[in-house]
Amino acid sequence: MVRILIVEDEKPIADLLDMSLTAAGYACECLDNGAAAADAVEHRRWDLILLDVMLPGIDGFELMEYLAPLNVPVIFITARSGVKDRIKGLRLGADDYIVKPFEIAELLARVETVLRRYHKTDANIVLGDVVVDVHSRTVYKGGELVSLTAKEYSLLVLFLQNKNIALFRETIYERVWENEYMGDSRTVDLHVQRLRRKLGWQERICAVYKVGYRLEVNE
Ligand code: CA
Repeated sequence: MVRILIVEDEKPIADLLDMSLTAAGYACECLDNGAAAADAVEHRRWDLILLDVMLPGIDGFELMEYLAPLNVPVIFITARSGVKDRIKGLRLGADDYIVKPFEIAELLARVETVLRRYHKTDANIVLGDVVVDVHSRTVYKGGELVSLTAKEYSLLVLFLQNKNIALFRETIYERVWENEYMGDSRTVDLHVQRLRRKLGWQERICAVYKVGYRLEVNE
């Protein structure tokens, strides 16, 4: 899930941002001061930070100087009158700004644009009750975490990128194991069997005679 940190000390605005972004499918956390935000940025992964300029203690600009080297996208939240603030924010390395009071649609559009620029749009792959979170390389089935090995995970992603396409064992081996195929298909077969069992995909991952396997998707 795309994780957004909201740093805003005006609670009604923080709540509005939180509600709108959560409804749009983002995972949000709100903090009301710069020190807590610096701490949160140091210890947790964020895909985007929405940063108010006027904050108690460490203000948005000071925090921006701290954030700039970390390569986390930042959108400043500024007051209507704060033209100088907007310019200063952009000069400090912010990606964009929104002006209070803002329209929700505009907020979402700006957030999406910045995330897309950083290739951080929500990269979940969903098939039936299986969800693959590409950022964290975690897989859920019916909301439950499925424990996959690194090879099983790569195999799953390969199938998902090639829906309804028969993949040769050689291709699967070379793509997942990143080695030249030496004619032993048991490794591929074993991993396909294990993946089928873990995901309940006995029907979905079909054996293709003399070829290999195909992920069946009728959706
Ligand atoms: Ca403020």
